[in-house]
Amino acid sequence: MSGFARATIAGAGLAGLSAAVALRRAGVPVAISDSAAQAGGRCRSYHDAALGLTIDNGNHLVLAGNRAVADFRAAIGATTPLSGPAHADFAFADLRDGARWTVRMNDGAVPWWLFSRRRRVPGSRLVDYVPLARLLRAGRGRIDAVINPGGAVWDRLVEPVLLAALNTAPAESSAALAGKVLRETIGRGGRATRPMVAVPTLGAAFIDPALAWLTVHETPLSTGRRLRSITFDGDHVSALRWSDGTQTIGSDEAVILAVPPWVAASLVPDLSTPTEHRAIVNGHFAFPVARTMPAMLGLLGGTAEWIFTHPDRISVTVSAADPLVDRDREDLARAFWADICAALGIAAPMPAWQVVKEKRATFAATPEQDALRPPPGTRWRNLFLAGDWVASGLPATIEGALRSGDVAAALALGRPARY
Ligand SMILES: Cc1cc2nc3c(=O)[nH]c(=O)nc-3n(C[C@H](O)[C@H](O)[C@H](O)COP(=O)(O)OP(=O)(O)OC[C@H]3O[C@@H](n4cnc5c(N)ncnc54)[C@H](O)[C@@H]3O)c2cc1C
Repeated sequence: MSGFARATIAGAGLAGLSAAVALRRAGVPVAISDSAAQAGGRCRSYHDAALGLTIDNGNHLVLAGNRAVADFRAAIGATTPLSGPAHADFAFADLRDGARWTVRMNDGAVPWWLFSRRRRVPGSRLVDYVPLARLLRAGRGRIDAVINPGGAVWDRLVEPVLLAALNTAPAESSAALAGKVLRETIGRGGRATRPMVAVPTLGAAFIDPALAWLTVHETPLSTGRRLRSITFDGDHVSALRWSDGTQTIGSDEAVILAVPPWVAASLVPDLSTPTEHRAIVNGHFAFPVARTMPAMLGLLGGTAEWIFTHPDRISVTVSAADPLVDRDREDLARAFWADICAALGIAAPMPAWQVVKEKRATFAATPEQDALRPPPGTRWRNLFLAGDWVASGLPATIEGALRSGDVAAALALGRPARY
């Protein structure tokens, strides 16, 4: 199949940006628009007046084995490094009993760390990790049908890590989605599992260099421009109605819809999309961070689940946070600050704070919702879908969004596509 000569992209989150970059690299002229005032979608940074700081809407963790993250950043010439420990060390604190431990995976693919009591979860035995091998190979069903959700390894490692990766209670989550993430990270060893965060911000690590690269490649982004409807004509899309007028789509032009699932479902007839979502709540505190504080700490037994420290701020994340979204923001900030003080040994009044609630942060990573994800190609020959919710085998992550953009671009180019 030969590719399209031009492309229009609706949505400048990571999926839309990655599609735009892939198409431009192939020499295809692209126009990209987003309804919001800025690019980045769910992965964005902004100046927060309450804190007097530039912050991310939410802490985003990627793993060193995320190949699309590395490829995308290389393609756009991103120079701000992603920061993380030299090895796959995951530090935890249990606020209920003060216990602290660090799981230290070795770098190579042979997981000899499991044989070291000083590296694995305290109180665990080698045999306790055997069920994880089943999850690595899992093809269907819920996680709790593959491994028993209990015991030290589950409570102190598997559950907190999978909750962060899937943004859904791990027991009810899809074993296939978890298995895919684990195969590409833990399954390849500690080197691929090193956690990394954007420093100083997501904008600097992903969005700003992508926009700069696109501008240099004659693809400026149009913001505040909403796609309102699509005109379908037989087997193709023939027009797009934007908030500022109608665009005719020529027969040589591809359209990539890189909008959230509920928007796509309102624009495309009979489109199957995930319908259930999970929230993520983040708390941000303007606080000068001591060098001795960990960059990242998993918490058990508190309201917050992960603490991330940046030089000028401390942030916390709660995944699958639906029970928290209606809670008073200041009340949440106080609970988060109490957790931070207990975990990091801080004795200070609550500083300037911000709480960001993303109600539909990701689709619910259950087997049922995963089954609703559509393929990137549609029954219209020039319409392609991109987004972390499009069927990719991956959960809703930066990696999944970037790969889906790449795949949509490959289809528009008439090239083989692979997740
Ligand atoms: C708080 C939070 C924390 C997260 N943490 C992590 C993490 O730790 N690790 C990780 O890998 N992932 C994480 N994620 C998930 C990650 O952010 C997403 O998977 C990714 O950003 C999705 O990108 P996308 O391009 O698919 O969608 P989006 O970012 O939602 O982009 C869609 C874009 O479409 C635009 N749009 C909507 N309607 C229209 C319209 N009608 N016309 C034109 N444009 C439109 C929107 O404005 C938006 O910019 C997190 C998400 C959140 C919210």
